[in-house]
Amino acid sequence: MMKTIHEPAREIPVLDEVDVLVVGGGPAGYCAAVAAARRGARTALVERYGCLGGLATGGLVLYMDGIFDTAGRRVMGGLVWETMERLQAVGGLAQDSPTHLHVDSEWLQVVADAMCHEAGVQLWFHAWAASAYLRDGRVAGAILETKSGRQAILAQVCVDATGDGDLAASAGAAFDMGYQRIGLNIKVGGVDRERWRAFAQGEPQRARALRRAVLDEGGVLLGPNTTPHSDIGVYWINILGLDKRDGTTYHDESDLHAMFEGQLSAIDVRDLSYAQYELRQRIARSLAFYKANVPGFEDVRLLAIAPQLGVRESRRIRGLYELTEADVRGQRAFDDTIGLHGLGFAGGGLIHLPYRSLVPTAVDGLLTAGRCVSTDHWTMQAVRLIPPVMVTGQAAGEAAALSVRVGCQPRQLPHQALRQSLAEAGAILSGAEAVP
Ligand SMILES: Cc1cc2nc3c(=O)[nH]c(=O)nc-3n(C[C@H](O)[C@H](O)[C@H](O)COP(=O)(O)OP(=O)(O)OC[C@H]3O[C@@H](n4cnc5c(N)ncnc54)[C@H](O)[C@@H]3O)c2cc1C
Repeated sequence: MMKTIHEPAREIPVLDEVDVLVVGGGPAGYCAAVAAARRGARTALVERYGCLGGLATGGLVLYMDGIFDTAGRRVMGGLVWETMERLQAVGGLAQDSPTHLHVDSEWLQVVADAMCHEAGVQLWFHAWAASAYLRDGRVAGAILETKSGRQAILAQVCVDATGDGDLAASAGAAFDMGYQRIGLNIKVGGVDRERWRAFAQGEPQRARALRRAVLDEGGVLLGPNTTPHSDIGVYWINILGLDKRDGTTYHDESDLHAMFEGQLSAIDVRDLSYAQYELRQRIARSLAFYKANVPGFEDVRLLAIAPQLGVRESRRIRGLYELTEADVRGQRAFDDTIGLHGLGFAGGGLIHLPYRSLVPTAVDGLLTAGRCVSTDHWTMQAVRLIPPVMVTGQAAGEAAALSVRVGCQPRQLPHQALRQSLAEAGAILSGAEAVP
């Protein structure tokens, strides 16, 4: 058994008192905060690091998956599309094609800050939510660890947008654990992608042999993805990552599902520390291998290693409804659909995201948003992507503000009122509303 110590009880200063507290400033969290504040709720957003955007900035995950369906129709509006338009206006968006959008990690921080600021969100950076604060059996705020010491923020409704469901779990919400590979993305310069592509297409056997060689050496594959600076050789690279300690690499790139399976736990500090160190080393070795062997990478330079580890999945908080593989394959629509997802997953079609997946089964005063909402493991492969988590964030923020306004718990919120509020805010709620 692990050795323990006793921590004495103490008084905690109250830093802020608001209507809606959003914990976690990733893509889901900043959308939740903006949506709540625009509805007039006094809103605070707590983020453990120094920037908004979560994995979409600090994680260097920059491809926006699922905004368009396989027919090329835009199926997301609201804060997702507003963010893309604002990025475009400042040169922070890159396009491979009209439907393949990549955000710039730095400009997204600036844009998300501005959207929160303009909406009147109180931002608390460098504040780590250590646990939920419970009063009368419901979540009534969060206890934070900050440089100013341990502090509390009180709220009528909290939104857990930590990605890992930290707040909900600490409040006693039931959850299931999901495991996918943990990655660590990078940004590089000096790459000649056209030369790399010509090599891969012109000499497929040699290219495959090189891929196998780098994997056999415990390295990672390096595929350059577009940034707004690709005209000067700058690309971001999505690192598939580790499946387990001393992990194997993955050779069968055609098996998408198995490719993402893993055993490392994103809520275990030992596994996180291991993955952080190990991936940095493997990236360094792989860059040296590519520089020496792969056409187009002769002048590659390492520009950035993501400051945030690439966690794809951890806690999925059990909700009033668990979105399942059968729902996705059947393209099931719901009375409480709060948005769509256009990923060509499981043969194409639309994924409908229901509000009840954001409402924990038995804990009041709380909503979830982002990659900790209620789905099965298979479905989380799609729902965790950046644009759909923004959709869940906007819906959670709207729902939290509405709950405060009408004086009910999120579980009692009339679905029609929420959908109307979302529609007014530009959300797309049915396939018929998709933009050609
Ligand atoms: C390697 C990798 C590649 C990916 N590729 C793609 C892709 O190509 N396209 C795509 O669309 N998606 C991709 N994804 C998925 C996507 O990046 C994430 O699932 C998405 O960012 C989840 O958003 P989120 O807001 O739920 O969580 P996160 O982005 O994880 O944000 C959570 C935020 O909460 C903060 N936080 C966490 N705990 C606390 C706490 N206790 N107190 C205070 N703050 C806290 C974090 O610092 C972070 O800012 C990828 C993910 C990975 C890891």
